[in-house]
Amino acid sequence: MTKYKLEYIWLDGYEPVPNLRGKTQIKEFETFPSLEELPLWGFDGSSTQQADGSNSDCILKPIRVFPDAARENGVLVLCEVMLPDGEPHPSNKRATILDDDDAWFGFEQEYFFYKDGRPLGFPTDGYPEPQGKYYTGVGYSSVGSVAREIVEEHLNLCLKAGINHEGINAEVAKGQWEFQIFGKGSKKAADEMWMARYLLERLTEKYGIDIEYHCKPLGDTDWNGSGMHANFSTAYLREVGGKAYFEALMAQFEKNLEDHIAVYGPDNHMRLTGKHETAPWNKFSYGVADRGASVRVPHSFVKNDYKGYLEDRRPNSQGDPYAIASQILKTISEVPMEGKATAAA
Ligand code: ADP
Ligand code: MN
Ligand code: MN
Ligand code: MN
Repeated sequence: MTKYKLEYIWLDGYEPVPNLRGKTQIKEFETFPSLEELPLWGFDGSSTQQADGSNSDCILKPIRVFPDAARENGVLVLCEVMLPDGEPHPSNKRATILDDDDAWFGFEQEYFFYKDGRPLGFPTDGYPEPQGKYYTGVGYSSVGSVAREIVEEHLNLCLKAGINHEGINAEVAKGQWEFQIFGKGSKKAADEMWMARYLLERLTEKYGIDIEYHCKPLGDTDWNGSGMHANFSTAYLREVGGKAYFEALMAQFEKNLEDHIAVYGPDNHMRLTGKHETAPWNKFSYGVADRGASVRVPHSFVKNDYKGYLEDRRPNSQGDPYAIASQILKTISEVPMEGKATAAA
């Protein structure tokens, strides 16, 4: 038997953005434990805004398990929070979202590294050189000395965990970076995004660096904000598509604008101003290869008879990927499809 370090990880009850929480228990298993072998556990919900002090027990129900390369015999156990009666806790969004294994999501998570209350690499007073050379930049004066070490280490942790991490780039602002996570199914993609966020925050503890996920940390300046573009496709969009269906889908996105913005992350009006490659938050638009539109339509989509994936550029870096994916599926479900897609491609 081997003693495994099980890190149970969950989302707390803070609004509008939940925090990641985690605690460790040691259990013996013959081999790396499967999900079925992992027991329920509990925590004090009164310390996480999930219960009153008088009745504080909340239940942790394991839903995904990943190897934890940062620890010898480490296991990352992603959990849903349940009430003692077995029902999902009100803060547990995942339990009730729309899901479909044939709906694929690619999230582009942007964020800032923060140290001593400002973006990594910013001088104590004032600002560094204006934006320009930082995006995909190389060299100490562009990206500093430690950021690349962190993003590489994060990439390795994600890949060793089996998370579908797809890539990295330095972003437009100094101290700002992006990584992409792709998954088939809204739960799968969003689980892996939350786990990747967890790994990033845990990793940067030892560097004395925080991850700033706010969508416009530098406010009304010429410094970019952070998004979490949601790329999506369904079996029907990939296999049938067509101009008429696409136009009906975009009309439904326009109609549901407020429902989308409601779950696309807090303070998005600060970011979606119409400047810095954004569309204004209160006006829906779409365009081919248009990075100033709400939804960007890739060239390949049009060339391929309106089949493929679309990019909703409005979700922000603090958005909950469970809620974002679910809202996109809800709007898609409201648009009639003619005929049917054959099978998952
Ligand atoms: P950009 O920065 O140009 O907007 P990225 O390369 O950062 O693009 O992100 C593109 C995202 O689109 C990736 O996360 C990728 O997984 C996702 N993607 C690609 N094809 C599909 C598809 N068929 N369905 C859903 N997402 C997809
Ligand atoms: Mn990108
Ligand atoms: Mn980006
Ligand atoms: Mn993008």
